[in-house]
Amino acid sequence: MTVTTTKSFDFHCHVDLFPDPAGLIQSCEQYEIFTLAVTTTPKAWSQNRKWTEGKRYVFPALGLHPELVGDRKSEIGLLEDLMEETRLVGEIGLDGSPRFRKSWDAQIEVFSRALTRANALGGRVVSIHSRWAENDVVALLDQNAMPDRVIPILHWYSGSQSAARRAVEYGCYFSVNLPMLSSKSGRKLIDVVPLDRLLTETDAPFTSVADRSCTPVDTVQIAKQLAALKQMPEGEFRDALSGNARRVLSFADIR
Ligand code: MN
Repeated sequence: MTVTTTKSFDFHCHVDLFPDPAGLIQSCEQYEIFTLAVTTTPKAWSQNRKWTEGKRYVFPALGLHPELVGDRKSEIGLLEDLMEETRLVGEIGLDGSPRFRKSWDAQIEVFSRALTRANALGGRVVSIHSRWAENDVVALLDQNAMPDRVIPILHWYSGSQSAARRAVEYGCYFSVNLPMLSSKSGRKLIDVVPLDRLLTETDAPFTSVADRSCTPVDTVQIAKQLAALKQMPEGEFRDALSGNARRVLSFADIR
């Protein structure tokens, strides 16, 4: 990948949950949209790696989603083993909402172990889910990872502004999607996050626009809306976003 020619950046997309992953990957390549293909179980890793082999714009990330930890806690060993193969990790994190609260202790263990492993290997970029658990996510980052070994990207952040400030202080980046931009709290978050920590994402296929599922190309529109919120000329804002992406990706040795 050459970041300078990249049209836009999707730092959190579930490519493997689309009906035609290979076709989606082909369109990301064609439109030169960097796409981080996050996964929800380490068992999906080998297939995602095959789909993305030799691609210039689409890169797989190794994950174990907190919503699945209740059933798949035993897969943490596989995640730790496979992390040697990739510097891109996600989706991992914590979900403290009522539906997933029963697996909370297991989530803490899995997330801590994933961060510890990423930190030991170093040079890892991690896409993090933090619903109803923002303060705990930052606390576990503090305990288990060093900002010069692991770059955390908080995806679809929906917590308080004070927790966001703590995350910024730690060194977190924030990947922003369309639903965040149409909510008041999401737009307020943009005030708290410094320009040099902003990234874009879709979390597709879990987001939609005009009755269709979002795809990575929709990050072009997200960047446009973010530029307006930051009251910046679009070109200047895009340059800043590219700079952020380049910083994060070169940390993971992707250029
Ligand atoms: Mn996701």
